[in-house]
Amino acid sequence: MEEYNAVIVGGGPVGMALALDLGLRGQRCAVVEKRTELSLIPKGQGLSQRSVEHFWRWGISDELRAARSLPGDFGIGQVTVYDQLQSGIWDALPGRELIQRYYFQKNVRLPQYRTEEVIRRRVAQLPNIDTFFGWTAVDVAQDDRSASVVIERASTKRTLTGDYVIGSDGGRSLVRENAGIARGGTDFGELVALVVFRSAEFNALLEQFPKRTTYRVMAPDLQGYWMFFGRVDDEDQFFFHAPVPADAPDPERAAVELISVAAGEQVACEIEHIGFWDLRVSVAEDYRVGRIFVAGDAAHTHPPYGGFGLNNGLEDAVNLSWKLDAVLRGWAGDALLDTYSPERGDVFRDVGEKLIAGWILDDRRFLSTHAPGEDPDEFKKEFAEVSRGFGKRLSTFEPNYEGSAAVAGPAGGRNGAIGTHTMTARAGHHLSPVQLTSGENVFETLGTGFTLIGLDADDSAVTAIADVARALGIPLAVVRDDRRGERAEYATRLILVRPDQFVAWTGDTAPDDAGTMWRRLLGLPRA
Ligand SMILES: Cc1cc2nc3c(=O)[nH]c(=O)nc-3n(C[C@H](O)[C@H](O)[C@H](O)COP(=O)(O)OP(=O)(O)OC[C@H]3O[C@@H](n4cnc5c(N)ncnc54)[C@H](O)[C@@H]3O)c2cc1C
Repeated sequence: MEEYNAVIVGGGPVGMALALDLGLRGQRCAVVEKRTELSLIPKGQGLSQRSVEHFWRWGISDELRAARSLPGDFGIGQVTVYDQLQSGIWDALPGRELIQRYYFQKNVRLPQYRTEEVIRRRVAQLPNIDTFFGWTAVDVAQDDRSASVVIERASTKRTLTGDYVIGSDGGRSLVRENAGIARGGTDFGELVALVVFRSAEFNALLEQFPKRTTYRVMAPDLQGYWMFFGRVDDEDQFFFHAPVPADAPDPERAAVELISVAAGEQVACEIEHIGFWDLRVSVAEDYRVGRIFVAGDAAHTHPPYGGFGLNNGLEDAVNLSWKLDAVLRGWAGDALLDTYSPERGDVFRDVGEKLIAGWILDDRRFLSTHAPGEDPDEFKKEFAEVSRGFGKRLSTFEPNYEGSAAVAGPAGGRNGAIGTHTMTARAGHHLSPVQLTSGENVFETLGTGFTLIGLDADDSAVTAIADVARALGIPLAVVRDDRRGERAEYATRLILVRPDQFVAWTGDTAPDDAGTMWRRLLGLPRA
């Protein structure tokens, strides 16, 4: 029996990212992955600015950019087209550049298997992570002191024991099922095809549009469900998602035929892969049961509309990692681990219901009440409006934990995915990057534990917070500067930043009782 701090079931991108983050914090981890080779389906391609911040912290953002399959200056974003690609009615949305100012890194786009290769290479450098590739987890159990996983390869069985077990074993998670965690959500009852194909002819057809990475076709008869193409490279490889009619006698053939329907003309292509997924949003009712947690697709799945899947999973990993590390090292109480499920679950529910289901319903309403008809120019304007509405909604994706016990948020605050991007430092929100007088970006000075940023703040206020942290063994970096330039936009003198770069507390003076604040944030018993 081998013993670890964390046993991670599932070595997809989320499980490996969790192992990496925990490993860099010095925790001993095992990762169990039943596959020996990566899947070469180019899913989860768009990594958000926020996700790239994680890669920067892990020391592999340059490797990530080097692994791209599109040139660096290729416009990441979407073209929305009415009916089919030749209709002449389309709009090219501004992309994530709208919110670039609020993040320290730029977004990138690359096939998921390349992202996974980059993470795996970094994991291989850490001696405190054991990987069990080719092993399948077959049972999970826990008691008051530990949790364990039985793994199997051929007819050999082994048991791995850990302080905690994390299931990042995908949508059909064994860990979730063994832990008795139920799922809720919405099933739209559609079967959707994913086709990966090569076609130089199709690439030429896209020359009528500005250079973008995805092309969404809003066809009136699809009632808001998407047909969309995505680029894998800038030459001839693409993927295509489309709902397949329920009565199609040969769904694979129907899926391939839909490429030409969406393109508006017959397209010759070489098919590399055809798969299917169910159009449903599902989310685990709890992400924690005792010493067992779920993360990534094991906790939540949804259609790849908007490209949230992998990004949400990576954020789960980062959110859970610092909390496990803090509890394992004894500077946080077990109650801190209870904040993982509401923080991440509430964000996901908003993504599923307000963004993804919201887009489907918005498009359905528009398509059922508008058509080019007699006045095509008027329709084009209305279409551009609805297409831009999509972009606006996308830029309201600002996950925040205002209602979390691990944050000193506003009274009545709630966690969610929808918010406003601003430079103002707000408890529960991601810290925006600013330049310091030294020329460094504040992100380059954040510690691996908590960070207290003092901007023209009284020494006594900084000392009051730092002294309690020292007494409780909480790792705290202190960054001092003035309130000039961009730093004034934080609109506060003191900012306490969590290890995941979310703001825990802000103030102009020290809190009335710094000890009570720290204990509450970290789930420690009262003094
Ligand atoms: C067709 C498709 C297209 C997608 N497109 C996008 C997109 O455009 N943008 C986006 O952001 N996301 C997209 N996604 C979602 C994205 O790919 C997932 O969110 C992401 O893969 C989640 O990572 P994960 O590590 O949680 O799960 P997975 O990638 O599913 O990894 C789980 C791992 O666990 C392993 N495993 C399972 N059971 C066991 C067991 N019992 N023992 C050992 N190992 C086990 C599996 O082999 C697998 O490697 C898409 C998904 C699909 C299916």
